[in-house]
Amino acid sequence: MLADLHLHSTFSDGVYTPLELLCCAERQGLHTIAITDHDSLNGYVESLKVRQQVSNPPEVIAGLELGTQLEAVSIHILGYHVDHTNKLLLNKIQELRLGRETRLQKIIDKLLDLGYQVQVPGGSSANRAMGRPHVAKALVAQGYFPDIQAAFDTLLKRGAPAYVPQPKLAPQEAIALIHQAGGIACLAHPSELANQQLVTKLIHNYVFDGIEVWHPSANKAEVHNWLTLARQEHLVTAGGSDLHGPGRYPEHLGQFKVLYENVQSVIEYKQI
Ligand code: AMP
Ligand code: ZN
Ligand code: FE
Ligand code: FE
Repeated sequence: MLADLHLHSTFSDGVYTPLELLCCAERQGLHTIAITDHDSLNGYVESLKVRQQVSNPPEVIAGLELGTQLEAVSIHILGYHVDHTNKLLLNKIQELRLGRETRLQKIIDKLLDLGYQVQVPGGSSANRAMGRPHVAKALVAQGYFPDIQAAFDTLLKRGAPAYVPQPKLAPQEAIALIHQAGGIACLAHPSELANQQLVTKLIHNYVFDGIEVWHPSANKAEVHNWLTLARQEHLVTAGGSDLHGPGRYPEHLGQFKVLYENVQSVIEYKQI
């Protein structure tokens, strides 16, 4: 049995709509999925509305991904089983999305100064969490760069000429926000962090409930490390493909497989 607890939809920087994700999951025989958009629960809410259009839809658990910052390090935190009507959480992510709109405009202005006249489609929806991948995609579509990575490397990555920092939560704020909404907080893709020492420090210093063990960024040895750490620290184990759609691996649902039993501790987690 398969599951995928890390999917991005069109409500952040994913290519597939929630309905498309449900259909793909059905076709691939996934038992459970989580739509974990950046700063948004709208993909999850939409999935509830459209699930009757699919004959055999997967179970969907409420999720989101919050980008946080600790000094210069970016730390992503996945929230699962949050109450999607929780006012404090909804207000905060709405504020984060509005901050993204302001930042998007600043990036577009910087690009214009640099000689790139870029039109970013769907740039003014309060429902959608806009990010640098949207800008990168537009730069590629308009023929400025051969691929998204080239646009990031030349213009958008931290320190590059069109980079604009985004106001971010501190890790403890994101974790507290998820907890007060009844959810569990998991450290996302630890292999993307600089070293294992930092991961261990984060797990010790913050009240994480789980860690994302299975992710395209983790090789076999790393999966083993994170699993050992999870067992030592009594953490639940998450896993998913971090699907965004064509243009970045994995391009399609089902390309990166996660066993249901490996992430069962997250799926079946109940608040005590
Ligand atoms: P943002 O939320 O606007 O800061 O964009 C963050 C997203 O951009 C990440 O989730 C990645 O998908 C992508 N990203 C960030 N840095 C890079 C990079 N150096 N190269 C390619 N993609 C990146
Ligand atoms: Zn993303
Ligand atoms: Fe992430
Ligand atoms: Fe992600």
